[in-house]
Amino acid sequence: MSGVLVLGNATLDVIQRVQRLPAAGETMLASATIRCAGGKGLNQAIAAARTGARTRLVAPVGCDGDAVFLAESVAREASLMTTWLACQAATDLSVIWVAQDGENVIVSSADCAHAVTGEQARDVCGALADGDMLVMQGNLKCEVTRLAAQIARARGARCVLNTAPLDWDMTDTLRLFDIITANEGEAKSLTRGAVQLGAAFRELGVGTAIVTQGPKGALIFDQGRDIRIAAPQVTARDTAGAGDVFVGTLAGLLAQGRTLSDAATIAIHAASLSVTRANTTPSFPTQAELAALVETFQNIQTSQVPHA
Ligand code: ATP
Repeated sequence: MSGVLVLGNATLDVIQRVQRLPAAGETMLASATIRCAGGKGLNQAIAAARTGARTRLVAPVGCDGDAVFLAESVAREASLMTTWLACQAATDLSVIWVAQDGENVIVSSADCAHAVTGEQARDVCGALADGDMLVMQGNLKCEVTRLAAQIARARGARCVLNTAPLDWDMTDTLRLFDIITANEGEAKSLTRGAVQLGAAFRELGVGTAIVTQGPKGALIFDQGRDIRIAAPQVTARDTAGAGDVFVGTLAGLLAQGRTLSDAATIAIHAASLSVTRANTTPSFPTQAELAALVETFQNIQTSQVPHA
């Protein structure tokens, strides 16, 4: 079976629940605070591993207690192997405020993520084999991200780039990846507000683009074929991390040979399940829940739309 390699960041998430998001200059009390493992790389690796795919997370961390906390948190994940890249900086941290209506604000540090070198990416991606999946996000530096994708592709791996966070100009990098996943805001920014998203992504050299649309689901632009996949209607409690559940689940299922539309449909339902529960990684579907979703969508049909 092919495997998934997630090369990305890992953070300690400090999540505070607040009645509403604070205004500038305001001081308010949180009703609850929790600490959990997070970061887009780590989140996506957990989601991929829970599909049953053989998954390795390669992420930079500092030499501190937060790194120990992260390692202990993911140690209980079946199918997930980890390689921690030791950094001089403190382990990256995300401060997340979640309001009662589910709205959130996230501010992350990226000192460790920015310390990952091209040489480390070269070592890690040199182990990829034909059919494996490389999954990356926008947290690492542009040149490291590009190099990793080039090496992975040369080795026959399929490369997925989740464009969050849009921290640097990705225009010339998108074409190095087989599949791009972006939320609506990122898609708008990458295509400079184009109305015909599919055509705009094709012009950027993207073979397959998936644009997630929160409660609406996702649009897939795949080699000239446009597919719309609806999300189930749920009561959203906390959407933080939903995009990561989508990307990780998608990659895990693709690595196990699922078709793009099957994998995306199951990934949307997995992400929608996660928004009904609080916090980031604690809200992710379990391995058993994912297995049940896969079972349900064994023969899923998706509707085609000509001009999404
Ligand atoms: P986040 O940054 O909050 O992790 P995102 O902006 O990357 O998420 P979204 O497009 O908001 O990504 O959501 C990803 C997926 O999560 C959607 O395709 C959908 O399946 C699910 N989702 C998000 N919000 C909702 C919602 N309110 N109701 C149902 N599903 C949702």
